[in-house]
Amino acid sequence: MFTKIPDGFIKELLKQSISKYPDRKICTRFPPEPNGYLHIGHAKSIVLNFNIAKEYGGNCYLRLDDTNPIKESIEFVQSIQEDIKWLGFKWNANVKYSSDYFHILYQYAITLIKKNLAYVEQLTQEEMRLYRGSLKNPGKNSPFRNQTIDENLFLFQKMKSGLVQEGSMCLRAKINMSAANIIMRDPVLYRIIFKKHHQTNYDWVIYPMYDFTHCIADALEGITHSFCTLEFQDNRQLYKWILKKLNFTTNPPQQYEFSKLNLEHTVLSKRKLQKLINLNIVKGWNDPRLYTLSGLRNRGYTPNSIRIFCEKIGITKQQNTIQLSLLESCIKKDLDYTSFRRMAIINPIKIIITNFSNKKIKKIHVLNHPKNPELGRRKIIFSNELYIEKNDFSKYKVDNFQGLILGEKVRLRYSYIIKAYQIIINKNNNIKCILCKYYPNTLGKKNQKEKINGIIHWLSKKNSEPAIFKIFNNLFLSKNPEKNKDIIEEINLKSCLIKYGFVESIVKSEKIKHAYQFERIGYFFQDKKDKEFQNQIIFNQIVSLKNKYKKI
Ligand code: ATP
Ligand code: MG
Repeated sequence: MFTKIPDGFIKELLKQSISKYPDRKICTRFPPEPNGYLHIGHAKSIVLNFNIAKEYGGNCYLRLDDTNPIKESIEFVQSIQEDIKWLGFKWNANVKYSSDYFHILYQYAITLIKKNLAYVEQLTQEEMRLYRGSLKNPGKNSPFRNQTIDENLFLFQKMKSGLVQEGSMCLRAKINMSAANIIMRDPVLYRIIFKKHHQTNYDWVIYPMYDFTHCIADALEGITHSFCTLEFQDNRQLYKWILKKLNFTTNPPQQYEFSKLNLEHTVLSKRKLQKLINLNIVKGWNDPRLYTLSGLRNRGYTPNSIRIFCEKIGITKQQNTIQLSLLESCIKKDLDYTSFRRMAIINPIKIIITNFSNKKIKKIHVLNHPKNPELGRRKIIFSNELYIEKNDFSKYKVDNFQGLILGEKVRLRYSYIIKAYQIIINKNNNIKCILCKYYPNTLGKKNQKEKINGIIHWLSKKNSEPAIFKIFNNLFLSKNPEKNKDIIEEINLKSCLIKYGFVESIVKSEKIKHAYQFERIGYFFQDKKDKEFQNQIIFNQIVSLKNKYKKI
C-alpha cells in the first residue's frame, strides 16, 4: 500500500538532513486543527508525512492543533481520527494535542517576558492594525511596548486569571515593528477567549496562537521535518525566532513548505465547506458531493484510490489546480478489476418483444466480470418485456448515435439482436413502449455479419428490482469557484439528480466487496445511510464511465 517518496525537492532535503544528522530518527507529524472534517487536501499532507516516516524508519504523530476553542469541537476531533484510520494510516504513540502543552507554553511565554522579548498589548485590535503598517510602510511601536518586565508579568497573570475582558489585552512578541516581513512586526502570542475548551474545559482563558504553539510543540515532540503549506512561508522566520529565543538550539525542527492541493470545480477550505453546510447547500460534512474524506467515503471512493491520487500529484512548490479526471481515473482503476458487472437502467423506457411469448423466459449465463472469470457467473433473463435506457433509443437516425433506432437493429448485451418497428404513445404524447422483434438465432453470437447499430444494456422486467440512483455532478459550475467573491453564485443547482430506475434482481440479496460497475453507466456504491428513501435500494454514482451520462 505504500510507495516510496519520489525524486524531487522533498527527497533531496531528506537526503541532506540525513547526511547532516545520520543518527537522528526522522520524525514528522500531521497537525490538523479540529475545526472541521478532513478533506482531500489534508490527505495530501497525511500521505506525505506518514510515507516519509515509513520509508525512513521514523515516527509520524497525529497532533490536534487545538488552540482556538471557538471553532473546535469533539465531533471534529473524532472524525479526524476516523478518517486517518480509514485512509489506512496509523500514527505513532497516543494522539497528541497542542493543549497538552498549555502549561509549558505558558511558562515559555513568561520566559520571553522575562527576557524582555514579549509584552502585554493594550491597544484595541483596530489600533493594532493601524500601528502594524503595510507592505510599503513600516509599523509604529505601541505605547505599551516599553512597559517594564514586572508590569508585563503582572498584566499577563491578570489576563490568565480571567480579570481582563476578551479583546482588550493580548501578549505580543517584541521583535521589530519595521521588519520587511510583516509577520515579524510584534506578532500576537496569546489572546483571551472565554469559552469552554473540548480538552481543557474552563482551565484556561488565555490561548496561545498557532505561531507560538506550533514550533514549540514540534520541538517538544522531537519533530525533525515540519511540513506545511506555502502560505506559511513568511511564518518560517517567526518559527525560527521563537525556537532560538527559547534556546531550542540543538537539532531544532525545520519548517518546509509545499503547495496546497486545489481541485477543479470544488472548494476545500473548511471555512467554505462549513458555509455550504450552514446554508443547507449540502447535507453535512459527509455529503457525497464534497471532497471531504467522509464525503468521498460515502460516495464510494476507496482509501486506496485516494492514496494513489495523492502519490500521483506529488509534492511541489508550484501552485496549481488538479483536474477532477485524475482523481476519477484513480478510482476507476482501483475498482475495475474487482467490481461485479451488473446491468441497471436509470432512465427506463419499455420494450415489448412481440414475437416472444409472454409465458416464456430465456435464462442466459453470463460472466460477472468479462476479464476476471474468478468473480464467477450469474443468470440473467430474457423475456417479452424489457427496459432499456431512454437515451439509447432514437426515433430517427442521428450522426454517431449507437443504439436502437426505429426500423433498425441493435444487440442487447449478452443476448439477442432486436429490431424496433413501432412506437406506442400514451395520452400525454410520451412514449409508452416500443414494439420490437427479436431474432432467435442471434443469441450471444458476437461475430455475426448482421448489421447492427451498437450493443446496449437492458433488463428484463422479470429480472429487475426498482432502485434509486443518485447521480452527482460538480457542486460548482466553474472550474475555479474561488475566483468569485461569492462562491454561492457558482453553485450548480443540478449537482444531485435522483433517478428512479431498475437493477438486476440479484443485487437485492447479494453481498459484494465494494461497488458495482453498472455496464455502460458507471461505478455505483450502495448508500445504506440515506434517511430520505428508507427500505429502498439506493445507489450513489461514484464516477461515470462516460461523460455523456453526466448530462442525464
Ligand atoms: P483549511 O484551509 O481547509 O481550513 P488548514 O490549513 O487550515 O486547511 P489544518 O487543519 O490547519 O487546515 O491543516 C492540517 C494540515 O493539512 C496542515 O499541515 C496543512 O498545511 C495541510 N493542508 C490543509 N489543506 C491542504 C491542502 N489543500 N493541500 C495540502 N495540504 C493541506
Ligand atoms: Mg485553518
